[in-house]
Amino acid sequence: MIEVKDDWCKGCNICIERCPVNALEESDRLNKKGIRPPQLKKNNECNDCRLCELLCPDLAISVISDKEVKKEDKKILLRPVGGTIK
Ligand code: SF4
Ligand code: SF4
Repeated sequence: MIEVKDDWCKGCNICIERCPVNALEESDRLNKKGIRPPQLKKNNECNDCRLCELLCPDLAISVISDKEVKKEDKKILLRPVGGTIK
């Protein structure tokens, strides 16, 4: 899964052009600069290689691997609900 900070994107398309599995495309969204930031294609073979994240000159794109998503879910499940634990 990728996360894009839309307003940070300047539309250089480096991420789209350099993705080794051609998983990215321009989205339909327009950011504040009038740019269409990237998104994952509906059918994509993204393998979380993080190349797009590393190459983005504006740090606009982050890759969150499935493992990290699961870890985050676990943290949420373990958080106490209301009150304090004594
Ligand atoms: S993480 Fe790798 S495979 Fe996935 S979109 Fe970015 S460059 Fe492409
Ligand atoms: S590399 Fe970064 S700035 Fe360039 S299009 Fe992709 S997300 Fe936008």
